[in-house]
Amino acid sequence: MDSSDSSSFFDPEAQDDLVRSLKKEIKTLKSKMISQDIRIFEMQALLQSGKGLSNILNLPQLLDTFMAVVRERYDVINTSVILKEDFENGEREFYQVKRYYGLDDHYEDAVGKKEPLFLFRIEKNNGLLWQLIQQGNVISVRDLQKEPRFVTAWEKHQLAVLNSDVWCPLIKSGEVIGILALGERRDGTQINESEYSFMQELASIATTIIDSALRYEKNKRILSNIQILYDFNQNLAEINDFKVLCKETIQSAVKAVQSQKGNIMLLNRNTGKLELVMAWGYIDENIIEGLNSGKIETKSFEIGEGVAGKAALQRKSIVMNNREDIPQMGAYETHCICSVPVLNGGQLEGVMNFTNKIHIEKDGTAVLDALGRFTKEDLSLLQGIADQSAVSLHKSRLYSASITDRLTGLYNSRYFEDTYYELAAKSLVEARPLTLALLDIDHFKMFNDQHGHKAGDFILKNVAQLFNEVKRDAGDLAYRYGGEEFCFVFPSFAAEEALLRLEEFRIKVSQHEFLYEGQKLKVTVSIGIAECGLHSRDPRTLFNLADDALYESKRGGRNQVRIAKLEINSARSA
Ligand code: GH3
Ligand code: MG
Ligand code: MG
Repeated sequence: MDSSDSSSFFDPEAQDDLVRSLKKEIKTLKSKMISQDIRIFEMQALLQSGKGLSNILNLPQLLDTFMAVVRERYDVINTSVILKEDFENGEREFYQVKRYYGLDDHYEDAVGKKEPLFLFRIEKNNGLLWQLIQQGNVISVRDLQKEPRFVTAWEKHQLAVLNSDVWCPLIKSGEVIGILALGERRDGTQINESEYSFMQELASIATTIIDSALRYEKNKRILSNIQILYDFNQNLAEINDFKVLCKETIQSAVKAVQSQKGNIMLLNRNTGKLELVMAWGYIDENIIEGLNSGKIETKSFEIGEGVAGKAALQRKSIVMNNREDIPQMGAYETHCICSVPVLNGGQLEGVMNFTNKIHIEKDGTAVLDALGRFTKEDLSLLQGIADQSAVSLHKSRLYSASITDRLTGLYNSRYFEDTYYELAAKSLVEARPLTLALLDIDHFKMFNDQHGHKAGDFILKNVAQLFNEVKRDAGDLAYRYGGEEFCFVFPSFAAEEALLRLEEFRIKVSQHEFLYEGQKLKVTVSIGIAECGLHSRDPRTLFNLADDALYESKRGGRNQVRIAKLEINSARSA
């Protein structure tokens, strides 16, 4: 070994240098190791939270877990997630609170009204804050003095409600699907900027999963909607009766989108107005009954008038989910409305209208959901139902018109021929009573001569209405058989029962003052009754016997009801 070499090796100065540089090396290595450690830890945390999150497809639960991970990591007092709404149809884009932690359940809106925090939402605009959000970087929205950095946006959107320091955009394929807002840290410090990149990575994992959860919910809804439409279609095929069809349609639609109430308005081609034909919903049954029987008067709408009229005019659905935009009428608050036109090959049949949403409690009761809104999926489902019902409604309307007498609204004689013989035959097979009643207005020719044909028409219409009220739900049928002749088929009444009913009706008519153009007009009616099986087993003979009884009423002085004479050989047992 060369001495000079060894002397240099033992050179104290050189040794010092070496030690110093080694120490430095160790130090950087150590710090590198620490940061490596942190990285490894961070990656583990990410993977773990990612795994934990990816098992959750229930959106609220997912967001809660996401926020819990964030709170644990940054030790913040409050967090909230706002997500883009998927049901606003215009150009405006809103982001609404979906979940929150550590914030008040209510906030005061711009006019000082207390609202649930879930209703808090901000509208996207072109401001500075939104430009930054779109870039996807974590943003500090309040400085160390807790002063907002984006004063204009802060005030315009009431951002103080979210009580946050830091915002982390949730971006999926370049689209801002939401924002995670983080409040103050427990120790009063602010989250260090060096933490932002990790937060962003965490958010990007969460965003992917949130997006999947949203898609999952959407697909689930689409699948269930297909099932609903399929069932509805199957159901429609079996319905011929116009009223039943309307009822079935509106019931299916209201249930399908969990609306509080809905109705079908059909276009009256004579008046050009939309008229309510059927309502249904999770409201007082008496009100529904009143609406559907006409006891509660409802407004009819011109095409273009109100939301329903507008939907009819534009031949396009209208959704209003923003309470401030909805004209508030009536005693109950309307939170959201939706009108869907019923079109048959482009031809307007009517409109279906829906208001408010409900949720069904575990015990089956329906509770108003003030936060509920009509979504795009709701709308496409309602449109599907409307499209399917349009064809049936159209057919059924034509059919209904073909069997209805225009002046009185009673069934016409054609329908009498269609139904009477069948009903009579059925009653004999089932050994149930059936009674036929024929009615004729007394001295109607004279009435016409005295008061004019128009007054006569008015009487026909109004007597028919009184006559219609005799009808029970049990399948009774009222027809206008001839000019001033009506008839009734009671499919479960014996003659005596029918007699009681019709006596009541006869007295009512005779006492009624028909107000026509300032005059109080009066008429009386005569009625003849015959019971199938009792008076005759042959429907044609039965009709003649009822007619004979009517003639007897006339002969006996009019304004009376008579039962057909019993012939010895045609007793019930015959
Ligand atoms: P009776 O008490 O015997 O039944 O006497 P009537 O005058 O009612 O009997 P008739 O059969 O001689 O006359 C029926 C009248 O009913 C003749 C017609 O002017 C009137 N009438 C029939 N259809 C209509 C209608 O659609 N509108 C009006 N205004 N009158 C009608
Ligand atoms: Mg007559
Ligand atoms: Mg007459």
